[in-house]
Amino acid sequence: MAKDLSQSKWHGIPRQDIAWYPTVDADACIGCELCYVTCGREVYEISLLDRDRRKAKVERPYNCMVGCSTCAVVCPTQAISFPSRDIVLQLEREYKIFKLVHAEAKEKRDKAASLVTRQEAEEKIAGTSSQVRVRIAGVFGEKRFLVKLQDLIKGRPYDIVDLQLHVPTLKGLLENTPAYMDFGVVSTTQEDVTTFLNELRAIVTENDLVWVEQR
Ligand code: SF4
Ligand code: SF4
Repeated sequence: MAKDLSQSKWHGIPRQDIAWYPTVDADACIGCELCYVTCGREVYEISLLDRDRRKAKVERPYNCMVGCSTCAVVCPTQAISFPSRDIVLQLEREYKIFKLVHAEAKEKRDKAASLVTRQEAEEKIAGTSSQVRVRIAGVFGEKRFLVKLQDLIKGRPYDIVDLQLHVPTLKGLLENTPAYMDFGVVSTTQEDVTTFLNELRAIVTENDLVWVEQR
């Protein structure tokens, strides 16, 4: 259902005190419906006169945005007219609206600033992760690296999960050819694991392994 803005205010002025709304010359209107689809404030409705003939009618005049004249600009037959803008200028002076306008402008700036702050906070949160999957490669040999991993997480709020060693061939393993190791790094307290990953990278390098990727 269309919203009725007739009881609203324009910078403190009751909307019904402002005679700014379109008038349609029915004779000039060819029923193209452009005004109806252009206006985002549901000022217009279209009357169906018979099967093919349509006419635009101003159904909710006070929904019209004060100062807007878009529908008149796009109307192909110039069937839409507005009063002189002097009526708006006169009301601006009469009601001394600028104090209120400054307050509204401040509110708008404050809202925009708090939106930016919120977006930055959301981006920061999105940039952190409490769960990361890591792939490393190299010669793993015995259990040297696994022991270091165990030491790294001992007594700390992190864990290594779903650890898989991918060995291309068994012969290769015996001949110490490179293999891949995949595992998940999780924070058991749902904190960001970035700092922990830096420590993990350090022991990967110390063990002559290669950090292939994290995702
Ligand atoms: S844009 Fe003009 S011609 Fe088209 S329906 Fe509206 S008033 Fe009529
Ligand atoms: S001037 Fe703007 S707000 Fe008013 S009826 Fe036309 S398009 Fe809608």
